[in-house]
Amino acid sequence: MTDTVLSLRNISKRFGGIRAVDDVSFDVNKGEILGLIGPNGSGKSTLFNCVLGQLRPDSGKVQVNGRNVAGMRACALNKLGVGRTFQQLSVFPQMSVLDNIILAGQEHHGTMLSRLFGPSDAGLTARADQMIAFFQLEHLRDEPAGALSYGQQKLVDAAMAFMAGPSLVLLDEPAGGVNLTMLGNLKDRLETYNRLNGTTFVIIEHNMEFVMSLCTRIIVLAEGQVIAEGSPDQIRSNQRVIDAYLGG
Ligand code: ADP
Ligand code: MG
Repeated sequence: MTDTVLSLRNISKRFGGIRAVDDVSFDVNKGEILGLIGPNGSGKSTLFNCVLGQLRPDSGKVQVNGRNVAGMRACALNKLGVGRTFQQLSVFPQMSVLDNIILAGQEHHGTMLSRLFGPSDAGLTARADQMIAFFQLEHLRDEPAGALSYGQQKLVDAAMAFMAGPSLVLLDEPAGGVNLTMLGNLKDRLETYNRLNGTTFVIIEHNMEFVMSLCTRIIVLAEGQVIAEGSPDQIRSNQRVIDAYLGG
């Protein structure tokens, strides 16, 4: 029995002449909050997309709870308990907060079309309301998502990722562009969710205060390669990381 939730082995992905991800291997343990940091263009989002079925890696192996998932599509991954948030907001602006969250819960029930034209509830309202309460969005439940502040939309995005009760969630820059108050809010909610449910997180983020205070372990990418791995304190004082990323 292993406590490894996500295992990456020798993942590589090129775009033309660019080695976006270059032979990356690491494991993520159950219940961990792992930070994935590095300069812009260092391959963080590409790596996520290789895990999440948006991209097929040129080589390497991705396992979730011991199962090979390379090339598996997002809805199949969702069924395996993998959730995600996107670097770009993925809410439908005209739809209410509630409907956006319900829709996310229907991800593994069918295609985009069947979701849009299917029954509006599918029994998911109660779960969606739980998520709305957890992220303290009750007062915004019936507002069009597009009318919310950017930070509030990021919370909706997180609520969407948690709808299916995932065991692993990958978050791509959840704090990007979020103001200080909402940032504290988001951090508190993620910490609490992790503590209550034992959910494993992998978080890409540039806000170092957010990363250093939330994450239990950090992996640093530069030019598609892992250049460091360790506790927040170890990463903060790692000369290679300071040179490649933190120093600038
Ligand atoms: P990060 O998320 O760390 O900022 P990305 O994974 O987005 O980095 O990008 C890594 C490298 O791959 C960059 O050089 C970027 O320009 C390139 N890249 C990413 N996606 C594509 C794509 N779809 N087509 C071509 N090049 C891409
Ligand atoms: Mg990115």
